[in-house]
Amino acid sequence: MADYDLVITGGTVVTAADTYRADVAVRDGRIAAIGFGLGGGATTLDAGGLLVLPGGVDSHCHIEQLHPGGGADEETFVTGSRSALAGGTTTVITFAAQFKGHGLGAALAEYRRRAEAAMVDYSFHQIITDASDDVIFREVPEIVSSGIRSLKVFLTYDPLHLDDRSFLRVLAAARRCGALVTVHCENYDAIGWRTAALLADGRTSPKYHAWSRPAVIEREATYRAIALAELVDQPIQIFHVSCPEVADEIARAQARGVKVWGETCPQYFVLSAADMDRPGFEGAKYMCSPSPRDRQASEGLWDAVRRGTLDVVSSDHSGWGFETPVGKRVNGVDAPFRDIPNGVPGLGSRLPILFSEGVAAGRISANTFVQLTATNPAKLFGLYPTKGTIAPGADADLVLWDPARQTTITNARLQHVIDYTPYEGRQVTGWPAITIRRGEIVMRDGVVEAAPGSGRFLRREPYPLIAPTGRVPDGFDASAFLV
Ligand SMILES: [Zn+2]
Repeated sequence: MADYDLVITGGTVVTAADTYRADVAVRDGRIAAIGFGLGGGATTLDAGGLLVLPGGVDSHCHIEQLHPGGGADEETFVTGSRSALAGGTTTVITFAAQFKGHGLGAALAEYRRRAEAAMVDYSFHQIITDASDDVIFREVPEIVSSGIRSLKVFLTYDPLHLDDRSFLRVLAAARRCGALVTVHCENYDAIGWRTAALLADGRTSPKYHAWSRPAVIEREATYRAIALAELVDQPIQIFHVSCPEVADEIARAQARGVKVWGETCPQYFVLSAADMDRPGFEGAKYMCSPSPRDRQASEGLWDAVRRGTLDVVSSDHSGWGFETPVGKRVNGVDAPFRDIPNGVPGLGSRLPILFSEGVAAGRISANTFVQLTATNPAKLFGLYPTKGTIAPGADADLVLWDPARQTTITNARLQHVIDYTPYEGRQVTGWPAITIRRGEIVMRDGVVEAAPGSGRFLRREPYPLIAPTGRVPDGFDASAFLV
């Protein structure tokens, strides 16, 4: 009778804090022991020459999101899970979206039903697009206490965006019930105004997407989001920071004690606005919001990561096929940039790109890589230490990572349903060899072997990291009133 279900021998364990040689033993889906001479396992994996990393936690990805006009994203919980596991990610936080004029409950039930097919462990951010009294005073507290402990708001996009008053109501509701608020920061009216001018001037091709939303539009909204969060004393995370001048707004607020965190995504390290200036419709493959900027901005983001201003790298996986009629070309290949769906796929490529550009290129340590991709998102969203680390008692979500393997990214390797990747042909150093989810080998050499439905919903309980600071202007806590 073996002592353990699984023993991983000879690897180099990498956590947010440490790098050391040790064997890792797993029993009943959890890490049971770390050390040497641990005893036998029913299965033994030789990890010689490999890094043993915590499974990736992707705290921002869009999977099977429902569309206001009916239908859903092409990426399903099965195909999205497959891509995640292929790329070394074992936990995702995706979205449940509210449609304007509707409540939250029925849609959330539908997301919960669809997610039962997942092969990764998962939670949701609840998107609020309509801050009605019933949503703010009744549904949000109910949903948060059911374990969905984060709300998402958009300061831009039709028909998603919230005005400042509604945003304040969401912040206050989150403060009352103990949830984190995540924010898409761009100025709705400024984008609308510039877009109208660009279209009036006949500038319609994909590259003008970047022109419609320059960095100042993101910076203004980031400053405003932070200021309003400071007014309410409600912790927030700024999603997908595209450039250092936005990170600077976050750093200034952090320095004065505001609880604000910043996230960025691989596309902002390796894509640029110039990618949208490709012939014909090709540029549409690279359109996402905020817009990728330029090489200098990307290097500035690495600085912000090293300083700790940005401490999470998510994929913002957003599935719009390139050739499919419901994807990027839903409004035709001559559609003005305004009418082309935004977003790029990235679930499977997140870890390889970040490892290659970060660790292999000498910009960050392997420990920082683990912080950005697993430990910090798990902490920030209340999943730690069950997820995001390698320690006795934690879920045995592990990636055996080959740090030296040279790979050319192709869409097929990424195994999502989307028919392209913006990283096609890109050479990377470092690739996942084996992915283990709760002790089960679910990917080996690119073959995903998990069963649909084997992922679990992660109910998130209250946690102290996102408690308010207790500092409100004039000592008057307006969030205590249901207004
Ligand atoms: Zn997103």
